[in-house]
Amino acid sequence: MLPNLCQALKLTDATAQKLEKLHIHTAWDLALHLPLRYEDETHITPIAAAPIGETCQVEGEVVLQEVQFKPRKQLIARIRDNAGGLLNLRFIHFYPSQQQQLAKGQRVRALGEIKQGYYGAEMIHPKIKSPEKSELAQTLTPVYPTTNGLTQPTLRKAIAAALQHLDLREILPESVLRQYNLPTLADSLRLLHNPPPSINLAQISNGALPAWQRLKFDELLAQQLSMRLAKQKRRSGSLKPLIGNGSLTDALIAQLPFGLTRAQQRVFNEIRADLAQPHPMHRLLQGDVGSGKTIVAALAALVALEDAGGFQAAVMAPTEILAEQHYIKFKQWLEPLGISVAWLSGSLKKRDKDQARAAIADGRIRLAIGTHALFQDDVAFHNLGLVIVDEQHRFGVAQRLALKNKGQDVHQLMMSATPIPRTLAMSFFADLDVSTIDELPPNRTPIKTKLVNNVRRAEVEGFVLNTCQKGQQAYWVCPLIEESDSLQLKAATETLAELQAALPQLNIGLVHGRMKPAEKAEIMAQFVAGSLNVLVATTVIEVGVDVPNASLMVIEHAERMGLAQLHQLRGRVGRGAAASTCVLLFAEPLGQVGKQRLKVIYENTDGFEIARQDLEIRGAGDFLGVRQSGAMMLRFANLEQDLELLEHARQLAPLLIEQQPEIVQAHLERWLGSREGFMAAWFSGCLSGMKQPETVAKPCRAGMIKRELGWHGIHALRF
Ligand code: ADP
Ligand code: MG
Repeated sequence: MLPNLCQALKLTDATAQKLEKLHIHTAWDLALHLPLRYEDETHITPIAAAPIGETCQVEGEVVLQEVQFKPRKQLIARIRDNAGGLLNLRFIHFYPSQQQQLAKGQRVRALGEIKQGYYGAEMIHPKIKSPEKSELAQTLTPVYPTTNGLTQPTLRKAIAAALQHLDLREILPESVLRQYNLPTLADSLRLLHNPPPSINLAQISNGALPAWQRLKFDELLAQQLSMRLAKQKRRSGSLKPLIGNGSLTDALIAQLPFGLTRAQQRVFNEIRADLAQPHPMHRLLQGDVGSGKTIVAALAALVALEDAGGFQAAVMAPTEILAEQHYIKFKQWLEPLGISVAWLSGSLKKRDKDQARAAIADGRIRLAIGTHALFQDDVAFHNLGLVIVDEQHRFGVAQRLALKNKGQDVHQLMMSATPIPRTLAMSFFADLDVSTIDELPPNRTPIKTKLVNNVRRAEVEGFVLNTCQKGQQAYWVCPLIEESDSLQLKAATETLAELQAALPQLNIGLVHGRMKPAEKAEIMAQFVAGSLNVLVATTVIEVGVDVPNASLMVIEHAERMGLAQLHQLRGRVGRGAAASTCVLLFAEPLGQVGKQRLKVIYENTDGFEIARQDLEIRGAGDFLGVRQSGAMMLRFANLEQDLELLEHARQLAPLLIEQQPEIVQAHLERWLGSREGFMAAWFSGCLSGMKQPETVAKPCRAGMIKRELGWHGIHALRF
């Protein structure tokens, strides 16, 4: 907190430091630090009328005080109020000063919950005040979330000072407030911090209270404005359009062993139209597992290569295995067209890496495929025009940063198999154009899903044998053990040994996350070539692996996995002509949510529907993977409950931008301050984000906007 602010609010350094712990850095942060609950100290309840189980304030004279030693040491003070009601105050821990305060004959005011004690009504550890020194409160008393050593009175004083200090003049036009029936911001904040006694406690904690609606609306509006501005900024940026003449794309399409689906054709047209614009493309291509995104990516890359400007394209995938699969696919598709493809990954030998880098730098190679190694500092592109990022939500902060530096002022296509729910698309992803492949290539035999209790494992092993004897292949996915990599490895090795013992006729290989990339690639190559019948794997195969001859997927402890993950895994089979099966092994006992999840995956094959139900079970914050990380974007609004407000904010934002830019600026300054733009950048950190980078994974109070490392890391990003 800045020194002059501390001075203005009369805060000591120690208090300021404690506030920082609560992520409070400005007067505005203080104003938005809202109570957890309230205490009613505005009136005195006659003891006789105080209901058991309720928190009340009573006042009376101490008629008896004693320290008991049985069953343990405790202080008991009995008070009698004016109407003659008697109440015991009991303290299990107490100081001599409290004994004095509660000496016989003293008048005291006590606030606490009324309980039915052994000797009649009592309060345990009530808050004690002397009536002479304190008047009855005019408003309900706020109780704030706090941290060690920061007392409620100190916090209350700081917040009251902040509310005095801040310029809380209304920013939004009166017509808007009337239209949406919202109170002013100043009134809303004052009400929430210091509600009048006339309001009841249930009412005030209800999100439908107009004061809450106002805060939620402001927050959603800030988010919409910031997203729209980011989009405008991108749209107004100038970038050389990529205009294909069709020479390469037509040739690739003609040479494919299949025709594009209508959906593939449509999204390719959308992408091509974007690339022909004179500003950076920022498009997400979403499509269920197996919907055929890779060929669309290849076509997009060819548009860049067809352009007369001599541009390069880069394709980046999050894992070595996936990147290599893309490399093989692209080579197979593009080499017949006379295009050479460079491969760049961390595991390459230095000499090969140097060669690839040199060819990329001088423009001899127009298309590069690889892991994030593509965007390390030592790689310089000659004339990069388009970046394609597969499964981009799986990249961490460092990789995003690297891409951001290299990918500035290029067209960007992101691909994901995890669809964004509509509400999120409307809000967080407002600066993103979305293309959706909503149909699978024809002639897929649907995948049969079976739920099997783990006690029937031997039968499943027999099924594996059967399948492989028909010339097909199988995956066996080991249980997810989140606590430890080495435990996970141990489980995988044990599964391998067990399967090898049970099925000596089969060749069984193991691939796991701890392997060196080259070893992994070797095992994958054997599986692709068919020399391995069964591939035992930790979930490293989750993303993108394409082996059409694999028709059986066994997943152990399916109840431990997330729905999106299960769906992705299941999508590894059903890629060839053979009928495919996915066996979900589960172990008893199953919790309620576990059962519900397995039911969803059992009953549905459509990834979008699964995502929708997943959202229902988990809630939007969790879907984004942000609830665990604590980096929740919205403090007040809730995307599921406040759809109507979101809709209002969505309607108002473009009008304000167009007609009242000074309001836009003031509102953003108030709500985002120095964080301006961070929301726009943020989505790249959690695009359908199943995984948040480590740096933001530190716990902090849910709902609190986090401004440490993680934010700044992501802040700088623009995919
Ligand atoms: P994903 O969208 O999961 O990345 P892929 O691009 O890996 O899917 O495609 C899955 C499989 O479908 C691949 O074997 C691919 O060659 C094949 N495929 C893609 N498009 C078509 C199509 N239009 N007709 C038939 N097969 C297709
Ligand atoms: Mg893919």
